[in-house]
Amino acid sequence: MSNKNIRVRFAPSPTGPLHIGGVRTALYNFLFARKNGGKFILRIEDTDQTRFVPGAEDYIIEAFKWCGIEFDEGVTKGGDFGPYTQSERKAVYKQYADELITSGNAYYAFDTAEQLSEKRAAFEAEKKTFTYNAAERLNMGNSLSLPKEEVERLLESGTPYVIRFKMPENEQVVMNDLIRGKVEVNTSVLDDKILFKSDGMPTYHLANIIDDHLMEISHVIRGEEWLPSLPLHVLLYRALGWQEPEFAHLPLLLKPDGHGKLSKRDGDRLGFPVFPLQWKDPKTGELSSGYREEGYFPEAFVNMLALLGWNPGDERELFDMEALIEAFSIERVNKSGARFDAEKAKWFNHQYLIKKSNIELAEAFMPILKEHHVLADKEFVTQVIALVKERATFVKDLWDQSFFFFVRPEEYDTKAVKKRWKAASYQQMTELKELLLNTEPFTASHTEEVVKKWIEENEYGMGMVMNAFRLLIVGALKGPHLFDIIALLGQEETVERISNGLLTLGKKE
Ligand code: GLU
Repeated sequence: MSNKNIRVRFAPSPTGPLHIGGVRTALYNFLFARKNGGKFILRIEDTDQTRFVPGAEDYIIEAFKWCGIEFDEGVTKGGDFGPYTQSERKAVYKQYADELITSGNAYYAFDTAEQLSEKRAAFEAEKKTFTYNAAERLNMGNSLSLPKEEVERLLESGTPYVIRFKMPENEQVVMNDLIRGKVEVNTSVLDDKILFKSDGMPTYHLANIIDDHLMEISHVIRGEEWLPSLPLHVLLYRALGWQEPEFAHLPLLLKPDGHGKLSKRDGDRLGFPVFPLQWKDPKTGELSSGYREEGYFPEAFVNMLALLGWNPGDERELFDMEALIEAFSIERVNKSGARFDAEKAKWFNHQYLIKKSNIELAEAFMPILKEHHVLADKEFVTQVIALVKERATFVKDLWDQSFFFFVRPEEYDTKAVKKRWKAASYQQMTELKELLLNTEPFTASHTEEVVKKWIEENEYGMGMVMNAFRLLIVGALKGPHLFDIIALLGQEETVERISNGLLTLGKKE
C-alpha cells in the first residue's frame, strides 16, 4: 500500500471523560500514522443523543493536547472530508440506509417499545432470550413480515420505524485482524442490528462504517471491545459494495491483578487515575483524578501507555514521542490483555523527572515553595534540586525531600532524638560548632575532610557524631549527603542551626 493513502482515525463518543484505554488507542493510531507518513483524523461520534455529556468533547481535545497527540484532520483541524462531527452529518446517512433497503440488505421495523418488551417477557417466561434475528424476524412487525400495502400505508402515515440489518442466514464470515489474524464467525449467532433509529439518526454501526468509507480510512485501529461488531461492519461494507479497511483490535487494559478490564472503580479503590485529566461529572459534581493533576509528566504518561500492549522487541523502556514513532509497528502489539501497573507508572515519572534539567525542575518547584511561604533564590533552588531529585517521583515530592534547605528545624524528630542524642552529643556538637566556625573554605569536600579528621583525632564514634549533627541541621535523620547540605546552607546558617539545636535539645542526663 502506498503510504500517502494511509488514513487512520480516533472516533470517540462524547459520553464522559476519556479512559486511559481510549488514550492508548488514539496514541497507537497517531504512532501508526506518523510512522507510515499517513494522516490521523479525529471524528466525534455523537449519534446517540441520549448519552451526550456536556464538556466531554472539550475534555477529549484538551487531553490530547496535553499528551502531545496531534491530529491532521478533524474537529480540531478541519479538512477535506468534514464535517467531522456525526450529528452535523445527519443528511449523509439516510441515503445509505435506503440503499440497503433497496438492495434487500435491510428492512423497516415498526415494532413499538411495548411490543418488543412483551416479546422479551414471553421468551423469558420460557427461560429463553429473545433475539431479533433470522429465526424471529418474520414473527415481528416489519417490511419482511407485513404485506407490501400495509408497509406502504405505515410509512405514508408517518408511523415511527427503525431500519434493521437483514443478517444473512448461516453464512460463514471470514475476516482478517492485523493483530489476531483470521477471525471467523457464523452469522447464525448474530442479530438484526438497528442501523437507523426512529429519531432520524443512524446508530453507531451505520454511521461508523459510512464515515470510515467516506473519509477514506485505510486502517481501523480500535479497542478489542469492538471485535464483536466486526462481522456486522464487514457485512455492511460488502452489502454497500465497498472495499473494507484493514482492522486491528487492540488488547484490553486489565486490572492490576490481571482479572478483567481496568475500570474507573479500580482507580478509586487502588489510588491511581484512570483518566488523563481530572474530570468533574457535570451531573453529580463527582471528581475523578487525572494523571495531569496528580503530577505526571505527559511524556511519562505517554511512554507508560505505549508499553501497555506493545513492545519494541528489545529491552528498551524509555521512549520519547519521536522514538515511539520510529519503533512502533502493529505487528508488535500483543494479542493478550495488558495488565496495568501503578508502580510502573510512577517509575516512568521518576525516570523523566531525573532526566529534566535542574533549572526546569526548579521552575516547576517555585510555585510549590511559594505555597509554603518560602521565598528562595532560583539559583539556590536549582542547587537544592540537584541534591534531591533522585529521591522524588513527582515535582510535588521535592518539598518533602528538601524543605529543610528552606526552613530551619523548629522541632526535632522525637524518635531520632531519643536514639541519637546521646550523653556526649552536647559536648561534641559544641566542639563541632567551633570547628566549623573556623573552617574555610566552607565547601562540601573541605568541611568533610576537616570534620572527619577531628572525629578521628578525638576517637569519637563516626556514626554517633554524624547522626547528632544531621539531627541539628535537618531536624530528622533524612536528606542527602550532610556535607552537601551544609555547603549549600553556608557557614553562618550551619552554625546557627547547631546553636539552636544545642539550646533546644540541651544536655542529655
Ligand atoms: N465511537 C466508538 C467509541 O466510542 C468508536 C469505535 C470505533 O473506533 O469504531 O469507541
